[in-house]
Amino acid sequence: MSFVFAPLPTPSLPIVGEEDRFPVRRIFCVGRNYAAHAREMGKDPDRDPPFFFTKPADAIVQNDETVAYPPETGNFHYEAELVVAIGRDGVNVPKDAALDLVYGYAVGNDLTRRDLQLEAREKGRPWDWGKAFDRSAPIAAIHKAADVGHLSTGSITLTVNGETKQEADLNELIWDVQEVISIISHSVALKAGDLIMTGTPAGVGKLVPGDVCVVSIDGLTPLTTTIGPAA
Ligand code: MN
Repeated sequence: MSFVFAPLPTPSLPIVGEEDRFPVRRIFCVGRNYAAHAREMGKDPDRDPPFFFTKPADAIVQNDETVAYPPETGNFHYEAELVVAIGRDGVNVPKDAALDLVYGYAVGNDLTRRDLQLEAREKGRPWDWGKAFDRSAPIAAIHKAADVGHLSTGSITLTVNGETKQEADLNELIWDVQEVISIISHSVALKAGDLIMTGTPAGVGKLVPGDVCVVSIDGLTPLTTTIGPAA
């Protein structure tokens, strides 16, 4: 097969301890998966079932890169998140078999144009412009589950210019990794190469040009992202 112009390279992430990289197919994201964050967004965490949105694979930003302040927003937010890397295909996966699909884990930042997201929410419109814009998915190196085990507990923190803004524990996830994988796989086929951003704890807030944002999860490579001037 040939193409009328050269296709772009496959987006990918480095893997700790491997020469080869992890090729990214899709990025699934869980909305409101920590109770305190659901409350700060004005929602009842006990009543709302999990829901999902996606980012394009080419929104990935590598660790230690600069992200230009994005267009069309005056309220650009960080969101610290555990990222699950899927290494095997799965459809209708039962919860107790869900971890078999996991290749590994990484630290991510679900960058959000909060003003556009909230406007979309109020008007019943899609979230894409608030969530799925260019360079909205910084993610650090993937650690293989074979090396670090499966992460159900451990601290998740985010700092901006060294000041702690988010601080929680993975055991506070309303829907844990097994449940999220199982639920997604009952709606769409999961494939090797998919990433799942599992949701952010309370404390989301603004980023401005010049900020250095660091997300850390126990046992994983921390993710550093610098915000640059508007392009
Ligand atoms: Mn998020």
